[in-house]
Amino acid sequence: MLGQMMTQPLLISSLIDHAERYHGQTEIVSVETDGTVTQTNWSEVARNARRLGSALTKLGLEPQDRIGTLAWNNRRHLEIYYATSGAGFVCHTINPRLFPEQLTYIINHAQDRVLFFDATFIPLVAALQEGLGEVHHFVLMGPRDDEAAAQIDGLQFYDELIETGDADFAWPDLDENTASGLCYTSGTTGHPKGVLYSHRSTVLHGFASNARDVIGYSAMDVVMPVVPMFHVNAWGSPYGCAMSGSRMVLPGPGLHGEALVNLIDTYSVTVAMGVPTIWQGLLAHAAQSDSNLASLERTVIGGAACPPSMIETFREVYDVDTVHAWGMSEMSPLGSTNVPIAKHRDLPIDEQHRLRESQGRPPYGVELKIVDDDGNDLPHDGETQGDLMVRGPWVLDSYFQMQDEALLQDGWFATGDVATLDADGYMTIRDRSKDIIKSGGEWISSVELENIAVAHPKLATAAVVGVPHPKWDERPILVAVKAEGEEPSEEELLSFFDGKIAKWQVPDKVVFIDALPLNATGKVLKRTLRTQFADALTG
Ligand code: AMP
Repeated sequence: MLGQMMTQPLLISSLIDHAERYHGQTEIVSVETDGTVTQTNWSEVARNARRLGSALTKLGLEPQDRIGTLAWNNRRHLEIYYATSGAGFVCHTINPRLFPEQLTYIINHAQDRVLFFDATFIPLVAALQEGLGEVHHFVLMGPRDDEAAAQIDGLQFYDELIETGDADFAWPDLDENTASGLCYTSGTTGHPKGVLYSHRSTVLHGFASNARDVIGYSAMDVVMPVVPMFHVNAWGSPYGCAMSGSRMVLPGPGLHGEALVNLIDTYSVTVAMGVPTIWQGLLAHAAQSDSNLASLERTVIGGAACPPSMIETFREVYDVDTVHAWGMSEMSPLGSTNVPIAKHRDLPIDEQHRLRESQGRPPYGVELKIVDDDGNDLPHDGETQGDLMVRGPWVLDSYFQMQDEALLQDGWFATGDVATLDADGYMTIRDRSKDIIKSGGEWISSVELENIAVAHPKLATAAVVGVPHPKWDERPILVAVKAEGEEPSEEELLSFFDGKIAKWQVPDKVVFIDALPLNATGKVLKRTLRTQFADALTG
């Protein structure tokens, strides 16, 4: 017997309709590419999204055509999110920090028909244009700009394009499994691979992100996604915030500490999300300024392991609760968040704090397990580590235009992370499987060592990698970036590990470097460090 309830499809257009109807006057603050600040609201965003959706439809695009964006977090990008998906196209957010060859590959592989871009990327697009034969429309996200028009053939302008659209445009009725968004992820080998989200997966992920133990956006919140809208849809915040009617502050291109502190203080931001490297800049500036980040209630930090020292600084100095989150492009991205459970309440406070350091537990909708090399399930005892596997309705099934590849193992997606799980589902990421250090048959977690090292006051940041060793196969070395004006010695850095980890896990050596090599999403390129320092212990 079938249930007898309505089967309305879960569509992204319903999110913006809801925000317009019930939260229309709720503000969206947008830092534009030229540094000016625009104030708009959900009602205006919805209206512009409909006009743009209509304008794109009039261009004669086919349903499901991909529409690329090279853009910062700003209000036009938000409008494009809703216009494209709502009108039945696929919003393909592109990471502008990738190499030009990768960008060309991605745009052509996705067969983007339209490319929207911010003024920052005019030179980039001008250089790439010749290799992008399948892109029919290049659209600068702003008003007419004759100087830009001289650099890019057939350039169109966002503010003129939406004029051709109809504000009464009716969103099409779509199957909820229709593709809505596309985001490429750089694998460890080969070309980047596309993750193709659907309306259904996006809306379900939005619901999950809105649970109180996940991010829990509220109509009382002012939300600042510092994580880029080209990095897994700013962790789904444009959807989650429309669902909740939160105010949003979109920080534009300037993500340095001073700009972020100013935005938090000026617009009374209550929730901000981003990767640890960005928060390092923010905390460094906040410490020098007289700001105490008074409005900020929560930060959600993920994308890379959040050092416990960062959680502590937010808590002790600024009275800000940090939710440490884990996820990946293939998971839309939310996979786990670290929030307590009732039985933690009566524990000593230090113990409660310690329990907040791991990557946390999965929300309803995500299942996690760990397996050994043969795919056998491993115990959830908080100690045994194994390959982390996931499944759920917002987890990737197959990569875009690579459907033939057998990817899942018994219906589970292999994350490439190595983790422990405890009986309550709390997960600790020990490493990416390729980054874990194997010393004489014993595993050493580079993340654990890095978490200790970055708390040293004389270091700005640090990474730990395994390099070849004649006796132990591989041993850890500490690649350290000194804090400004500091001259730490190798001995004092290594002695900092004493008593915090087993002696045999302490790095063999410290090498100093001016800056860590980062990939396009701000993650440390461990492979580069391993190559650069391959002879550190043998040379
Ligand atoms: P991406 O798809 O670019 O977001 O990268 C996903 C990967 O980032 C994951 O598989 C993890 O290796 C890493 N990652 C994300 N969040 C965390 C976290 N909180 N702690 C440790 N690693 C993380």
